[in-house]
Amino acid sequence: MTSLESLQFQKRMIESPIGEADRAALVAGGEFGQVFTEHMVTVRWNEQRGWHDGLVEPFGPLRLSPAAAVFHYGQEIFEGMKAFRAADGGINLFRVERNAERFAASARRLAMAEVPAELFRRAVEELVSSDAAWVADHPEGTLYLRPFQIATEPTLGMQPAAAYLFGVIASPVVVNRREAPPMRILISDDHVRAVRGGTGDVKCGGNYAASMPALGRAAEVGCDQVLFLDAAERRFVEELGGMNVFVVYDNGSVCTPPLTGTILPGVTRDSIMRLAADRGARLVERPIEIDELQEAARAGRVTEMFACGTVAVVRGIGSLHGRHGEVVIGDGGTGDLTARLRQELLDIQHGRTPDRHGWISGISDARSRRSEVLEVAG
Ligand SMILES: *Cc1c(COP(=O)(O)O)cnc(C)c1O
Repeated sequence: MTSLESLQFQKRMIESPIGEADRAALVAGGEFGQVFTEHMVTVRWNEQRGWHDGLVEPFGPLRLSPAAAVFHYGQEIFEGMKAFRAADGGINLFRVERNAERFAASARRLAMAEVPAELFRRAVEELVSSDAAWVADHPEGTLYLRPFQIATEPTLGMQPAAAYLFGVIASPVVVNRREAPPMRILISDDHVRAVRGGTGDVKCGGNYAASMPALGRAAEVGCDQVLFLDAAERRFVEELGGMNVFVVYDNGSVCTPPLTGTILPGVTRDSIMRLAADRGARLVERPIEIDELQEAARAGRVTEMFACGTVAVVRGIGSLHGRHGEVVIGDGGTGDLTARLRQELLDIQHGRTPDRHGWISGISDARSRRSEVLEVAG
């Protein structure tokens, strides 16, 4: 087995990097997740060698056997995180160890080989420093990072695969200073997202495939997202397809459903809970009944509702659409606390505010590294 310390990333860098102007046009013009940076990282695993063949290479197609287990039994997991342009010109990562832990938990749930936290971090750092120029040099410049892992063993045998590929790709996120308008949310009363004992608390591709009919239904009725209820009773609020939810009541309490195995433990959720508590908010993790929530909203007792996740950061919820019609939350706009929590989190991520929780780790980019080498050589 290759030991982790001796695992070196071999680098095959792109021969003619894209020019500044073309890159800027791509970053500005792409929708989320449509444009990718010039490199990707891949690492392989098998039983004999463990994790090996770490490679930084030009972004491009993978060659896989059509019998690769991922295509048949769905052993696939992923993560979502961002690199942020920092106020001092550097690049920040946010709570990487959380994503690494969650990635390993997802692997365990799907009986896949676990990527050690140290390897996860190194792979992410290799990609970000190779493609640092893609983190826009702008106060809100960010690069979305997508670590993923698939079963590559060519076999139709239904058992945990004996070979895996761990990869990281990156997609620049369009800089957008203004907060997005509040969402219209469809309450899903037919499809559920997760069951106790299932995979709702890990990030595996199958969860999202299964949520797509509900998303399609939401789009048909002019909604942006779906709010899923618990599978057993269809009575309690769980989360959106890719974001956790919070409800703010007029008595000042900020509520979110507890993590009982069917809700994805969001890094943003955890961070928002701490920031809200720091502000002296009364934070309550408790089951939220959908009927009670709609009643309270109709009676004007819900002042704000928001969803949060890495991609959208924090986004207001303006209305809920269910079997019994529509309820508007607060005045239908983005609430005060929602806007403030969003701004505070962004300020920490971009290094504009002291990192009092120790959430940030800096990354050296290839350009500054090149100049270090030159300095030493000179
Ligand atoms: C990824 C995800 C979230 C948000 O998690 P973050 O770590 O905050 O990005 C919430 N719910 C689901 C279902 C998710 O897949």
